[in-house]
Amino acid sequence: MAKTTLDTLRGELERINLELLELLSRRGTVVQQVQEIKQRDGIPTHVPEREQAMLERLTAANRGPFADETVRQLFREIFRASVALMEAGQRKVLRVGRASGGAELRIAVGGVEFGGAPVVIAGPCAVEDEAQLDAVGAKLRELGVRLLRGGAYKSRSSPYAFQGLGRRGLELLRDAARRHGLAVVTEVTDTRNVALVAEHADILQVGARNMHNYELLREVGGAGKPVLLKRGWSATIEEFLWAAEYVALSGNERVILCERGIRTFETQTRNTLDVSAVALLRAQSRLPVVVDVSHAAGRKDILVPLARAGLAAGAQGVMVEVHPNPAAARSDAGQQLDLDEFERFLTAVGLRT
Ligand code: PEP
Ligand code: MN
Repeated sequence: MAKTTLDTLRGELERINLELLELLSRRGTVVQQVQEIKQRDGIPTHVPEREQAMLERLTAANRGPFADETVRQLFREIFRASVALMEAGQRKVLRVGRASGGAELRIAVGGVEFGGAPVVIAGPCAVEDEAQLDAVGAKLRELGVRLLRGGAYKSRSSPYAFQGLGRRGLELLRDAARRHGLAVVTEVTDTRNVALVAEHADILQVGARNMHNYELLREVGGAGKPVLLKRGWSATIEEFLWAAEYVALSGNERVILCERGIRTFETQTRNTLDVSAVALLRAQSRLPVVVDVSHAAGRKDILVPLARAGLAAGAQGVMVEVHPNPAAARSDAGQQLDLDEFERFLTAVGLRT
């Protein structure tokens, strides 16, 4: 008899559980509808005052046997789950991500195509003068490299370091590239200079220090030129992809992702080339991925194995700094290859065409 009563009560609990679940699911559906309206009208997802008011009404209506505090705890948990549901609904499938279903992007520029055979981008850290660019430009052309890099606007960690030649640097780059049949990759550091840099460059570079500069990302996205986006040295892969998404949302999906090393505890390299990021970026995004071995290593004796590792992980190009007289370079003197070293580097990595 006692057993039958217990079974009956247990059966009753099971039915109540299902009813509660049914109610929770209905509540979840209403929460999703609320979220749609909030998103449309720009209303914040989480409104603590409203939660507080609901809790007060619930405790006022509480007839027991649960204590008011228990009722508050239970409903706080329901509210937390509801906010999580709203936030999950907000997360969009990234345009630059593979999950969007779009094709892998191929970006043709200056006679090469990112996303096909490995592309080389080479040149000095900073534009210094015509003779420097002429020497590098001629060597690039001789070795079949089509993309000349060089900074006219240098974002330097120290305000006392060489900041670049600015507009004059852009002109020198453009002229040297014309003379040697090359295309220009150069960094833009300021929203006010995007149009000017876009007039002189074939690819706009956004540097590691500016990966989180969302205004710049938007502006660069509207400039109509392919963008080489460098990963911030403490940016997660997700943040890196969001930065690329900013550019894509401004109307330009032609973004090349550049892994250039992240900051770790290691002191023997300037940064640590994150090879896993290369593999993950290839797996998660539709964009071409390249590695900048010079800024990753901060030294030149391990550039060949780093380039090989990057390519083996799926990188579709390599950036490397080259200077006719690295010892006299006005920035990054320790990591730039001279012209002969560059030739040996390309041969060793198998990138000579
Ligand atoms: C550069 O490529 O010139 C440069 C400054 O690199 P990063 O932004 O990766 O430091
Ligand atoms: Mn440099």
